[in-house]
Amino acid sequence: MSIRRYEALFKGLVQHASDVVLILESDGRVRFCGPSARSLLGYAPEEIEGRDFFSLVGEGFDTEQRAMFSSNLVAEHPTFMAGFPMRKADGTELPVEAAASNYLRNPEIVGVIMTLRDVSRQKKAEERALFYEYFDPLTRLPNRESFVRDVDRNVSIAMNRGRVFGVMALGLDRFKMVNDMYGTKTGDEVLKSVAGALRSSFRNDDVVSRYRGDKFLALFPDIKSQDHIKEIIAKARAAFIDPIPIGLGQKLNLSASMGVAFFPNDGKDAAELVRNAETALYMAKESGRDGYRLFDARLNGEIIERQRIESDLGQAIGERRFEPFFQPKVDRSGFIVGAEALVRWRMPNGETKNPSEFIDVAERSGNIDRIGSMIIMKTCELAASWSAAGLPDIPISINLSPRQFGQEFLVDDITAIIESTGVDPRRLEFEITESGIMTNERESIRKLLELKALGAAISIDDFGTGYSSFSKLKDYPVDTVKMDKSFIDPLPHDKKASIIASAIVDMAHTLSFSVVAEGVETLDQMAFLDTIFCDQYQGYLFSRPVPQDEFRRMLAAGAALLPSGA
Ligand code: C2E
Ligand code: CA
Ligand code: CA
Repeated sequence: MSIRRYEALFKGLVQHASDVVLILESDGRVRFCGPSARSLLGYAPEEIEGRDFFSLVGEGFDTEQRAMFSSNLVAEHPTFMAGFPMRKADGTELPVEAAASNYLRNPEIVGVIMTLRDVSRQKKAEERALFYEYFDPLTRLPNRESFVRDVDRNVSIAMNRGRVFGVMALGLDRFKMVNDMYGTKTGDEVLKSVAGALRSSFRNDDVVSRYRGDKFLALFPDIKSQDHIKEIIAKARAAFIDPIPIGLGQKLNLSASMGVAFFPNDGKDAAELVRNAETALYMAKESGRDGYRLFDARLNGEIIERQRIESDLGQAIGERRFEPFFQPKVDRSGFIVGAEALVRWRMPNGETKNPSEFIDVAERSGNIDRIGSMIIMKTCELAASWSAAGLPDIPISINLSPRQFGQEFLVDDITAIIESTGVDPRRLEFEITESGIMTNERESIRKLLELKALGAAISIDDFGTGYSSFSKLKDYPVDTVKMDKSFIDPLPHDKKASIIASAIVDMAHTLSFSVVAEGVETLDQMAFLDTIFCDQYQGYLFSRPVPQDEFRRMLAAGAALLPSGA
C-alpha cells in the first residue's frame, strides 16, 4: 500500500475520531494531523502538519516527559502514555492524555501514531473534587479538614520560631432561630454574608474557615501581645456590626460568641487546639451571648461535669425522678399560711439532690421545661388530695424559671394541669424572678394577666437582687414580693440592712403587695421583721423544705410551728 493510499485510509478512519490523531516522525515533526485538531486545539490540521510537536505542548510538559517521548518516537513498541497540556491556537491550554499506539515503518514514513484525548472534563471534575475536599461549597471558605492541615503546618512553624498562635472557634448566637423563622435558604445566605464579613475583617494571612453549621474556625498565625488578642476579638465583633440584609428590605442583627485557644499553652496539635477553642466557645455561650472566652484548662473539667449532669438529667426525667418538697410559710405567730414547692431529685439510693446541683444545667439545656411541668403536675395533684382529705386550703406556690416562664404554651399547659388534677386554681401561686419577667416584658405581662385570670396569684421571687425597682414593679400584676435572703442575712444588727428591709416592706405595702421574708434563720431576724410589719416568714427557723408526707403531717397537726431553738 502506497503512503498516499495508506493516508487516505487512515484519514477515513480518523475523520470521525474525537481524539486528535497524529503521526509523528522520529525527530518529532508532525507528519499527519487528524481533523479533531480544529475543535480541540483550534488549529486546522494543515497548520500543525510539518511543525515540531514540542512547539505545541504547554507549560506542564516537563523534561522527563520530553525524554520519554523522544525515545518512544524511535522505539519498536512505543509505550508512551502521559498527561500534559497542549497549547491551543488562542494561547490557552488543553489538558490531554497522550498515548503512542503504533509504530509505522514504511518506505516513505517512519513514525508513531499518537492520540491526544481531551481530558479537560475529567480535570475539572478532579479539581472540583479537590475543591470539595478542602473547601466548604456554601461559603467557599476552607473547610475543617483544610483548616486542620493549616493548623498543623503552623504548629511546626511556630515551634521552630518560638511563636504563639491562636485558634478561634466562633459560633453565631441564636442562628437556629434565623433558620426557623426565615427558612434554611435565608439561613444559608446569612452564613455566606457572615463568611464574607469575617474574611474581610481579618488579615489576609489569618485563615478563616467554616467548620460546620453556624460554626467558624479562624487561625491567627503570629500572636504578639495581649493587645493583639483584643484586636482579634474586636475584629471578629466588627464583622457583626452591620445588620445583614435578608431580602425584602429586611435586615438582621446578628452576634457571635467566641472561644480562643493558643499554641503552645492550650494544645500541642490541631486536634487539641480546635477542641479547646470549642470548649472556650461553649463556655462563652453559656455565660450569655456576644461574649468570648480564652481557653482555660479548668474549663474542660467543668464541661465534663456539666455534660454528665445533663445526661443523668435526661435519664432521670425519663424515670420521673423529680418530686416537690414543701417549705411552709408562716405568719407572726408561727401558723402555716402557705407553702413553697421546691424540687428535689430522688437518686436511686433514696437520697435527694438539691436544685443548686442541677437547676442551672437544666435551665441551660432546656430540661427545665420537663422537670418543671413534672413539679407543677405533682404539686397540683398533692394540693388537690390534701383538700380532698379536709386539710386546710393554704396557698401553694410553684417556682417558674425564666426559661419556663418564657415557654409559649405555659399558660395552656398549666390550665390543662389544673383541669386534670381538679386543684382549685385560687390556691396556686407562681414565683417568678424579676429577670424572668423583664426578658420580654410585654409578653410577660400578658402571661401574668392570664395566670391571674385563672385565679392564681403571682409573687416576685428574690426581690431586690434584680435590676427592677418598685417603679417598674407597680406596672406588673403582682400580689407578693419575696424579699431576698441577702437582705435578711445581715439583720438585725446591720443598720443599713435594717433601713433597706424596712423601706422594702413600706414601699411594697404602699403598692398593696404583701411581703414574705426569705431565709429567716434566727429569732432576732424574726423579731426585727415583726417590728417592720413583714407579712410572712419562710426559713429554716421554722422548717426546712420537707418531703410531701412530712408536710402533710404538719398541715394535719394544725399547730403553730415553734421556731426551732426558740
Ligand atoms: P428559691 O425559689 O429562692 O427558693 C428558696 C431556697 O432557699 C430554697 O433552696 C430553700 O430551701 C432555701 N431556703 C429556705 N429557707 C432557708 C434558710 O433559712 N436558710 C437557707 N440557707 N436557705 C433557705 P432550694 O430548695 O435548694 O432551691 C433553690 C432554688 O432552686 C430556688 O430558689 C429556685 O430558684 C429553684 N427551684 C427550686 N424548686 C424549683 C422548681 O420546682 N422549679 C423551678 N423552676 N425552680 C426551682
Ligand atoms: Ca422561690
Ligand atoms: Ca427566693
